[in-house]
Parts: sequence; C-alpha cells; structure tokens
Amino acid sequence: MKIRFWGVRGSTPTPEHRNSRYGGNTPCLEVRLANGTLIVLDCGSGLRALGKSLLREFGEHPIHGYVFMTHFHWDHIQGIPFFLPFYRKGNVLLFHSVLRKGLELKGAVEGQMVNPYFPVDMTAMGAARHFFDLGEHPINLNGAIINSAPLNHPQECVAYRIEADGAVFVFATDTEPGSPFHDRSLRDLAQGADVLVYDAQYTPEQLLGDRKGWGHSSWLEGTRIAHECGVKQLVLFHHDPDNDDAFMDGLVEKARQEFPQVTGAAEGMEFVLPRGEMAQAKLATGHDRRREHRYRLELPVRVAWRGPDGRKLEAQGLTQDVSRSGIYFIVPAEVRTDLPVELDVILPDEITHRGDTALEFIAQRVRQELVNGALSNHGPSVAVAAHLMARGNESVPQEANWFSKSVN
Ligand SMILES: [Zn+2]
Ligand SMILES: [Zn+2]
Repeated sequence: MKIRFWGVRGSTPTPEHRNSRYGGNTPCLEVRLANGTLIVLDCGSGLRALGKSLLREFGEHPIHGYVFMTHFHWDHIQGIPFFLPFYRKGNVLLFHSVLRKGLELKGAVEGQMVNPYFPVDMTAMGAARHFFDLGEHPINLNGAIINSAPLNHPQECVAYRIEADGAVFVFATDTEPGSPFHDRSLRDLAQGADVLVYDAQYTPEQLLGDRKGWGHSSWLEGTRIAHECGVKQLVLFHHDPDNDDAFMDGLVEKARQEFPQVTGAAEGMEFVLPRGEMAQAKLATGHDRRREHRYRLELPVRVAWRGPDGRKLEAQGLTQDVSRSGIYFIVPAEVRTDLPVELDVILPDEITHRGDTALEFIAQRVRQELVNGALSNHGPSVAVAAHLMARGNESVPQEANWFSKSVN
C-alpha cells in the first residue's frame, strides 16, 4: 500500500512562501493498494494536483477510483470542481461516506457547484459518479478491509482504517479529544496502525484555552494515542493556517520528545507499507530521496570560479532547489563548473526567521545540462546539480530550519 499526501493544511488553503515546505493545500490523500486499487481520502484543494497526476499516469485509459469523505466542511470538498478526471467520460468515481441523519451524500458533494457558486454544475462532468453510505460496518474493497469510527467534530466526521497488503493505515482528522465515547472509538480504530495520520491543528495550550470546542486536536493527544495503541508511525496533520514552516518544525520537535516516530505531514510525502518495503523503496530510487530532502527555492546566487589564467571570475545565477548537501542552480553557460566553484547566497528573513543570512559554499558539480532562456538578460545558460560543502570556517548550518527538513 502506498500513501501520498496531496494536501495537509486545515481550514483554508495557505499559498504562502512561509508555509511552502509543509504545503498550503487542504486535505487530500491518495492510497494505492498493491493490486492497483485507487483510494482518495478527502477532496481538499490538494485534489487538483492529484487529478493532474492521475491524467498523466492513465493517459487515455479510464480512471476508476474510490473516494472516501470524512465530512463535508469546505476544506475537505473544495478540490472537487477542479479535479479534471471528473470531466472525462469513461472515468468512474465511487463516493463513500458515513452519513449523519438527514444528510444526502450526492447533495453534500455537488451542492458547492450550484448556481451562483460555480460557472458549471456537476452535469458538466462526464465521469460516472456513484454515492454510497457506508453505515457503521466494515467493507471489503478489492481485498482491503475498511472500517470507520465517529469523531468529535462540529457536524460530525469519521476516521477511516484501511487494512490491506499486510499493513494498517488510519486517517483521523478533524477531531477533538475529551469526549469519552469518541476517544474510545478512535483508539479502537487506531490499534496497531503502521501509520496514523492525526489532527494536530492546535497546540496543547490552545486546546486548553480559546480553541477548546473548535473540533480539533494537538500533537500531544496524537502522541498519547500512538503510545496507547501501539502505533508505529504518527503523522501530524491538518496544520493550522497560521502555523508557518518554522513553527511546524517546532511542533514536530516537541512531539518527538514524547513519541520518537512522529513527523509532520508535508505535500509530496509518501509512505510505502509495510515498513520493510518503505525503506527498500526509498533506497531503491534516488528520486524519492530527492523529493524528501529538497525544496524549491529561487534565490539569486553569486558564483565565482577561476578562469584559464587563474583570475577569479564571477557571475550571477539563480538557485532552483536546495537541500542540506546539494543544490540545483542555473548560471550563464560561460561559467566553468567542471572544477569546484564558490557559491554565495543570501537567505531572506522570511526563510530563516532570524534576519537575512549570508551563506558561502563550495559546489562540486555532479552533472549539468543546457537550459537556454532560463535566465533573463542572458543567452545560453546551464543548469548544474552539485554537492554543497562548507567554505572557510563556516559549517553547513544544519540547525537552520530550512535546512533541516525531514519528512520521514
Ligand atoms: Zn478540516
Ligand atoms: Zn472540519
């Protein structure tokens, strides 16, 4: 079973630079079973990018997917109008939810597109859509056993447990601790989970204060459930719109003191279960490793190198993405990168949260390719992937938040 996070933010999308490492899209997860079954958990704004990814993957072939809705608050349905596979004839999407009395699933999903809220209604969508109320009983979906449990949230919500391929995955977002009935049913559902995704929107302090009763939880409750239920990996989820990346790093760090196997959900993050396979898959592909530790960062960079006569030459380039030990940057084609070059870059305060910070590195080229037109005011340019090493007395600042991204 493979799980991919397309949206991790709670309440409202936050397309802001300071949130970009964890991500600003609202909840949407993709689960793929070993037999190819596609399961979508919630339809927040992350659903849009999932739709594009599915179209790339399936091409002209029809898409058959099972959509499970936890509840119908905006942040969990707002991606639906922008999910391109809905507009393709031949695709089949089966919606599932556990409905409270008086609510109709089709209306809850499609109502957001009625006049005057959206230019076309769902009749514009060529895909076949079917709606199922799960009730309280487990279902067998192509070999996967799916259970649900009610959560403590305004207008109700449910958590899902997917048992398949020898692993257990539990998705429990939008819930507040403190209701004995719900606390117990969630613990029953989370027993022995390989991965538990859990609502950690608020800090424990907020939850005791003015956010009490808002229907969300904290990392602290997540670590308690993880301990009590023998959870192997806890994933903090539904990040508050006001929590920037640095703040999120802090929450994850605090949670780690209580339960070591915890991480903060980030867009693009993947788990392959059972755990043995996850490690293998990660080692097997450099692609996965890259995705975990790099992030996009377009910043001016000064590059210095030695010309044929030994004279020092300089040029301006642009970083593309950066990790703790590597960098991908674009420079004018005349820059010689076959020997190590000096790189100077200034990280703005919005990334470091400690003022503009100048960093100096030596970059050792791994590969390069021509990318004409990538730099304005320049002719031919090259994109260079390089290892980063510290220069002079400075060490690579591992403690800096933006360098310490860890999503596994
Ligand atoms: Zn929500
Ligand atoms: Zn909600």
